[in-house]
Amino acid sequence: MVEQRTENPRVGSSILPLATIFFSSLFRVFPLIRSTVSVVNTEFDADLQQCLRQASHKLDSRLEAEILLAHALDKGRSWLYAHAMTRPDTAQMQAFSNLLERRLAGEPIAYLTGKREFFGRDFIVNKDVLIPRPETEHLVERALELPLPARARVIDIGTGSGCIALTLAAERPAWQVAAADLSPPALAVADQNRRRLGLEQVELVHSDLLAELQDREFDLIISNPPYVATGDPHLDQGDLRFEPALALACDGNGLKLIMQLIEQARRQLVAGGWLLIEHGHEQGEPVASLFEGTGFQQIKTETDLAGLPRLTLGQFP
Ligand code: GLN
Repeated sequence: MVEQRTENPRVGSSILPLATIFFSSLFRVFPLIRSTVSVVNTEFDADLQQCLRQASHKLDSRLEAEILLAHALDKGRSWLYAHAMTRPDTAQMQAFSNLLERRLAGEPIAYLTGKREFFGRDFIVNKDVLIPRPETEHLVERALELPLPARARVIDIGTGSGCIALTLAAERPAWQVAAADLSPPALAVADQNRRRLGLEQVELVHSDLLAELQDREFDLIISNPPYVATGDPHLDQGDLRFEPALALACDGNGLKLIMQLIEQARRQLVAGGWLLIEHGHEQGEPVASLFEGTGFQQIKTETDLAGLPRLTLGQFP
């Protein structure tokens, strides 16, 4: 009896490498053809291993290829290894191809997957918020070490995804944590994260720095404000190109908002309250002297993992 094949005929695995060689040499000879063909060649019935090999080559990163493929398949990265011979269906292949194309155009991985880990928790992110960075984890660590009252009143200014405020609230459940941002779409992201993490007690406030909170007192004011100078060439490079300018840059050589924040904080910290600010690596000295000129004490500037001055803190007497 003749064997009946009911499933779609697949390209035999022994033909695939030959076909790959044929097409890649075609691309080399006619580079223009490449741009008209989807980024992962969905015509082939490739398995995960082959998808990963192709994508790693194009991205020049195995890790990024794995993250994007896992995201397209809605699985974890380790799943890919356990299912190396699985063949994604057309929709999955198309989803992967779209992600690859966007990554090759420079879009940050965190915006493609919609999340970024911060202090051991996943935060939802999108183009309306800054992507949480390791430097800011250090800011959080430093806040957790401060000698604060058990039920400390804390505000995070320019919260974005909410990563600072929500991490503090999760790590110190007795603290009364609020978070402010000028951008309503950023507050919507913070709200999503607040609900996902079960931290509904964290208050979200629409405010330009401390403007809407003038009747309140705090034991700690913490912030990762925009501190890149408007027009800085770094804004046209890497992930920064895709992040909200409002969250990244400001006038006064990147110091305008920090100056305003220090001035406002002075009026709203309790006696003995702390101000903790992340800043640019060339802003350590100017920020420390602003703290000093405003009457702060115990002023300290600390370096990030790269050894660059990255945060300054001080206590208001
Ligand atoms: N640390 C970020 C960067 O330079 C900037 C973050 C910010 O402006 N707060 O990539």
